[in-house]
Amino acid sequence: IQNGNLLAPVKIEKVKVQVMNTCSFDSLIELIVNGYSDYIVYQRCVKTEFSDSEFFHLVTDYALNKTTSKWYIKRAVCLSKALDKPLTHTLDCSYNISNLILKLLHDVPSTINEFNCKKCKISSKIIKPVLQIDSQPILTEGLKISLEKSLNKYFSITNKKVYCDSCKSYGYESREPGPHLLIDTEHPFISMVEIGIGFSSEIPLSEIPHSIMIKNVKYVLIGIVHFIPPEIENGIGHYTAFCKTITGSWKQHNDLKFKADIIPNGSLLN
Ligand SMILES: [Zn+2]
Repeated sequence: IQNGNLLAPVKIEKVKVQVMNTCSFDSLIELIVNGYSDYIVYQRCVKTEFSDSEFFHLVTDYALNKTTSKWYIKRAVCLSKALDKPLTHTLDCSYNISNLILKLLHDVPSTINEFNCKKCKISSKIIKPVLQIDSQPILTEGLKISLEKSLNKYFSITNKKVYCDSCKSYGYESREPGPHLLIDTEHPFISMVEIGIGFSSEIPLSEIPHSIMIKNVKYVLIGIVHFIPPEIENGIGHYTAFCKTITGSWKQHNDLKFKADIIPNGSLLN
């Protein structure tokens, strides 16, 4: 996938739209397409549960046909809707990836948190597209051991007391993992820097667990979105996607390059 910055404007209803800074979107979609292409269970789930999602139409289309000029038009339309920006001469898509996921995948859960209040017989489901996990275990034990622990701690909560707005008393919350887990690890790493403990700015790719078990379901690593901070003040930085294939090899998709790079397994990630 090419960043809009490298491409000519797309023509939508007689308007030439220059789509800019699409790296967070492009990295996310490379990652999801990687999972979609490699795992038939995930493919089935997308086809049955998310067939109405515009984002997943782009996923399936790209997995089947790669990018076409039509695909780039659809990307522009999808981003303009998600970011609530008009399709005018320039469409700037620079956006924090977690916030972008909240908009694009608002109905696709990484976790479903179900709330029940017996007193007022309320039951509601909250879909969380991004998981923010407890940073403490990661700080003390590192990613390899602690990621599974942190996630299991998060999902083991079956009856968490939660304040009920209706009856001003307490109800209970339980959590179920979704068809995929999009995990935000920014928070633990910011905490690491803040408290200044043995923080290394580099993580070997091998430090990231290949699979984890949550509630007897196996989740397999499909990749990581990597952020390169801006080099200049007020710059926007750049996202790329490291995708892990079913054979265990890594590829880096950078939308400012024409081809994906093969990444040796022992590589370090900044
Ligand atoms: Zn209540």
